Amino acid sequence: MDNMEIINKKERNEYLSYDELNQVFNGYLNGDVNDVDMTRLLRSICQYGLSEEETYNLTDIFIKSGDTLDLSTLGIVVDKHSTGGVGDTVTLVVAPLVASCGVKVAKMSGRALGHTGGTIDKLESIKGFNVSLTEREFIDQIKRINIAITSQTGEVAPMDKKVYALRNVTNTTMSIPLIASSIMSKKIACGANKILIDVKVGDGALLSNINDARELSRLMINIGKKYNREIKCILTDMSTPLGKSIGNGLEVKEAIEILSNKNEGRLKTLSIEMASLLVSMALTINLNDARKLVKEKLISGDALNKFKELISSQHGDFNSIAIDSTMIPVKAEKSGYLVKIDALALGKLSNKLGAGRIEKDDQIDYGSGIVLNKNINDYVNKGDIICYLYTKKEVIVSDILPCFEINDNKIKEIPLIYEIIE
Ligand code: URA
Ligand code: CA
Repeated sequence: MDNMEIINKKERNEYLSYDELNQVFNGYLNGDVNDVDMTRLLRSICQYGLSEEETYNLTDIFIKSGDTLDLSTLGIVVDKHSTGGVGDTVTLVVAPLVASCGVKVAKMSGRALGHTGGTIDKLESIKGFNVSLTEREFIDQIKRINIAITSQTGEVAPMDKKVYALRNVTNTTMSIPLIASSIMSKKIACGANKILIDVKVGDGALLSNINDARELSRLMINIGKKYNREIKCILTDMSTPLGKSIGNGLEVKEAIEILSNKNEGRLKTLSIEMASLLVSMALTINLNDARKLVKEKLISGDALNKFKELISSQHGDFNSIAIDSTMIPVKAEKSGYLVKIDALALGKLSNKLGAGRIEKDDQIDYGSGIVLNKNINDYVNKGDIICYLYTKKEVIVSDILPCFEINDNKIKEIPLIYEIIE
């Protein structure tokens, strides 16, 4: 069948077979199908959805478009994934924490996307850190020290990469089957057998509705079953930034504080929960025993030492993390309770300060970003410092104030973890 006929079929909301999906998506990858026609197909998928079977098939087609990692010589290996957040430094805490419990962690991470940060950019704020391991180096390092974090070894799901870039600029990201196949193709190709996915919910996340997050989670768990992978999803809030730091070097510094068992707060709480879930999955122990082990590793300093071992194994200098020297305080213009810290607005602001890319090829200023000085429901007096901006750029401080809302009354506490789906 002709590619155009396949696309027309989906525009009539008809089922597409494995072969039809395979033909048209491979056509897009090799240039036979252009952006305009692929956008028509993506729009129809956003409008009508895909059946579960079509979603499984599309995931399989994405996986087969690139390299897959064979980690079978490593036994049980865990991985984690986040659908994208602001101040979401969880990977940098959880990966060494879990590895210090004797569990193997194989993590392939991405760069910043939209207003959300990326683990690879964060690691590059550490002087010398090598984010491009070969497959051999990746596997050998996991064997040796239980942990490796790399951008990619070979090309994982190149078809997803090309389709995702198009979705990003054609407003066709918001489709649950497309998100599920995009995430799961990469997770399955990367080889881990037990995977925890943090599905962010809220105005600063891809999904703002909890029912959509539940549907996405169930779909990803079912895709995992097809490939004999154990998937759990944790649904967490992303209306307010997770940690107090937003920006690459600043987030690494905060991760180190948490691994040193300091710095109480939402980032630390979620990191402990996610690490405990992964340890319980990997060692097949109950969650309470896993939590006890995880906390022991934080207190003993083993978790921090594992992070140092990871950094030195990948040629980074633990004592040389980029942090800009200019620190601009932002002060409250009135007194009251701080009731909103807008994750989306702060993510965008952090990009403007230099922490992310506005254009695809922009250079990042690894030392730039924002450090919050107040929490939700703190009482602030006029003139109190709400946050600090780290940047080499000119800033207009009054532009920043709309990221915060100060009110006469406190708000109801914002939940951190909504639920766990398995
Ligand atoms: N993250 C991905 O990798 N893909 C999506 O489609 C959405 C979030
Ligand atoms: Ca391979």
